[in-house]
Amino acid sequence: MFEYAPAPESRSVVDIAPSYGLFIDGEFVPPASSGGVFKTVNPATEEVLAEVSTAGPEDVDRAVAAARRAAGTWSALPGAERAKFLFRIARIIQERSRELAVLESLDNGKPIRESRDVDLPLAAAHFFYYAGWADKLRHAGFGDDPRPLGVAAQVIPWNFPMLMLAWKIAPALATGNTVVLKPAETTPLSALFFADVCRQADLPAGVVNIVTGAGETGRTLVEHPGVDKVAFTGSTEVGRQIARSIAGTRKRLTLELGGKAANIVFDDAPIDQAVEGIVNGIFFNQGHVCCAGSRLLIQESVYDEVIEALKRRMATLRVGDPLDKNTDIGAINSAEQLERIRTLSDIGAEEGAERWSPPCELPAQGFWFAPTIFTGVTQAHRIAREEIFGPVLSVLTFRTPAEAIEKANNTPYGLSAGIWTEKGSQILAVADKLRAGVVWANTFNKFDPTSPFGGYKESGYGREGGRHGLEAYLA
Ligand code: NDP
Repeated sequence: MFEYAPAPESRSVVDIAPSYGLFIDGEFVPPASSGGVFKTVNPATEEVLAEVSTAGPEDVDRAVAAARRAAGTWSALPGAERAKFLFRIARIIQERSRELAVLESLDNGKPIRESRDVDLPLAAAHFFYYAGWADKLRHAGFGDDPRPLGVAAQVIPWNFPMLMLAWKIAPALATGNTVVLKPAETTPLSALFFADVCRQADLPAGVVNIVTGAGETGRTLVEHPGVDKVAFTGSTEVGRQIARSIAGTRKRLTLELGGKAANIVFDDAPIDQAVEGIVNGIFFNQGHVCCAGSRLLIQESVYDEVIEALKRRMATLRVGDPLDKNTDIGAINSAEQLERIRTLSDIGAEEGAERWSPPCELPAQGFWFAPTIFTGVTQAHRIAREEIFGPVLSVLTFRTPAEAIEKANNTPYGLSAGIWTEKGSQILAVADKLRAGVVWANTFNKFDPTSPFGGYKESGYGREGGRHGLEAYLA
């Protein structure tokens, strides 16, 4: 086997300020309370990247008030005029995508190959796509005169910071809403960069406001009485708290929560292709993916063949510097998340599943976890039931399609699933019975702005993306 030479992307393409204020009413402003700062670190090195402001109740108040003031004029603009701003934002994201990709990899730990080739192109595509809808809302199937809801409070997680921002902000603006968005505490930098993109696009002040901080800032924002709509992506636990806290108010809510997707490999599947899909399903973005294919269901007759090919493929995965263009698996986003992955993996081994990772040297500094599979997993094991949100795959087996469907649906979640088979009829028959918002066939983790995304059961409700994604922002 040959060795790869280092292929590092230069981090000098992006300027990171030593400290950031809050983006409210078109300007960066200091937080009302001067003590409110926290540090964001590079999870690959633990180096502090910048100091970021914590928005307290007074700051959230100011941001919601700015969004409210802007709502009247923004919603009154003809759709074609709003579209021009969205197109402009999309083009600026494209133009500055190299800077943004490096920033995202530094703050999140994801490989540059993914931030450059997946996150950033998709983020721009979302703005392009929803720009196209802005002047066609009457023809979207939501009545003759669909109206915006007003001010949208949006809280996003750390796994796809820029992409989740685009999923939230693009449909909200296209439909004439204004926004206050809180990025995750560990990954605020691309949202702050986006604030600058809004300024560059001459977006009217107050249409987009970015408040940084921890969970408490998110709670203050979603509970603010001046908010008309809440859109949340994150853990099921916090989703539940939010649903409880806004029950009985007039606020509209969409929740995109966790998942424990089954990736089902039938005995007639093209095995090499399926193995690529399995790897992409669980090791893409370090497994920090709500729709990750974290439960692999293999038909017994091809079990040995699939496991052998999977292990061979896993041994070629390169774990390390996220800025190296040859890296497949980057750093785990935070010490807390690493701890959670370690704990659940240890429980998997204690409960009797067999753990395997390829030989791989992990860097001494930073937060790392080797790609791991557990075989001999039963449905009762915690690693088969709980979202690990890391590069850890639980492998189960089945004999018949009926058994595969029963096992796939045996989860409190219902976000996504995958089917690998040569037979189109099998794909349709099985997909029809899977209780999952997205079902991929002979592929996995494919995203497109035109395609709705969302879950059943404890994976949340509401759809993002596509024409369906407009509905969440229209009265
Ligand atoms: P959280 O649900 O806590 O975080 C998601 C976002 O919500 C963050 O911006 C967070 O802020 C914010 N938040 C936290 N508490 C509140 C609150 N009470 N009200 C409003 N907003 C709040 O996820 P974690 O980061 O703690 O991850 C924990 C687990 O959740 C993971 O291990 C994974 O299993 C799952 N997860 C699932 C995701 C998905 O896409 N389905 C995404 C992220 C996590 P802050 O970052 O400051 O805490």
